[in-house]
Amino acid sequence: MIVGGGPAGCAAVRAAPGADIVLFERSPDGLGGQWRHALAGPSHEPIARLTIENLERWAQGADVRLGVDVTLEQIIAEQPDLVVLASGALEHRRPFKVSPGASKLLDGWAVLDGAEVEGPVVVWEWGGDWTGFIAAEMLAVAGHAVRLASSSAAFGEGMHQYQRNLYLGRLDELGVELVSHVEPIRLGAGELLVRNVFSEREMTLDGVGTLVVVGGREPYFPLYEPLVEAGVNVERVGDSLGARTTEEAVHEATVAALAG
Ligand SMILES: Cc1cc2nc3c(=O)[nH]c(=O)nc-3n(C[C@H](O)[C@H](O)[C@H](O)COP(=O)(O)OP(=O)(O)OC[C@H]3O[C@@H](n4cnc5c(N)ncnc54)[C@H](O)[C@@H]3O)c2cc1C
Repeated sequence: MIVGGGPAGCAAVRAAPGADIVLFERSPDGLGGQWRHALAGPSHEPIARLTIENLERWAQGADVRLGVDVTLEQIIAEQPDLVVLASGALEHRRPFKVSPGASKLLDGWAVLDGAEVEGPVVVWEWGGDWTGFIAAEMLAVAGHAVRLASSSAAFGEGMHQYQRNLYLGRLDELGVELVSHVEPIRLGAGELLVRNVFSEREMTLDGVGTLVVVGGREPYFPLYEPLVEAGVNVERVGDSLGARTTEEAVHEATVAALAG
């Protein structure tokens, strides 16, 4: 049995052809996991669409049950020989103050999924991965004035360099202003107080209509301990162990399914 229809879950199906596999995916919209958020990215859309199509092919050997947030009881009822727990990650919320009457505040994935922003926009991101770049490009293409602020040592440091460098080029052409090494302290009405993560120097960014917060990925695995305690043979793979690339998630799930 597989919990999660992202890259890891679908890779586990591919690695065990002919096996009797049920794959549960919470989203009613389809397989792909986090890749579905990337479908809105002006430059990420083609690779996201192709990746999702590949994952759908990989999962063809399984009984795929979409729209099911599978529970411990449902898993135990199926009496699986092995559970591959590929439940992925959620967006991490990083704490900072929000004053009464503050500007609009949205999470990165919500923006990628179509939440409405009011410009000008500051996209603040923590770890230098895809969501901040994609949100900044998407909002700039939509005509918003965008500043991309980052806490990471280098913009896009969590990405493959062939993607990062192309994003940096496109963002420059779109007029996206980059603000290095800051984290939010307080969102106010039209302004954002930030702090340099290395020196702790504070500064204010003015003219903020919306703050988009991309706090990084937080492993999501609420079923793991209960499954272990219930004596179920379970392997945790992919982002449910910690944020990683698709390649790593696919590799781990493949190894887990082959071993099982
Ligand atoms: C916008 C964006 C762009 C990205 N671009 C790239 C890129 O270009 N290259 C790259 O290498 N990586 C990229 N990534 C990272 C990549 O998406 C992740 O590394 C990968 O998705 C991790 O796969 P996973 O299967 O472990 O987890 P996820 O993709 O998070 O999938 C987990 C799935 O489990 C489901 N689930 C959780 N609990 C349950 C439950 N109880 N019942 C049923 N279903 C459940 C969730 O709904 C989810 O669909 C990107 C990520 C984002 C957000």
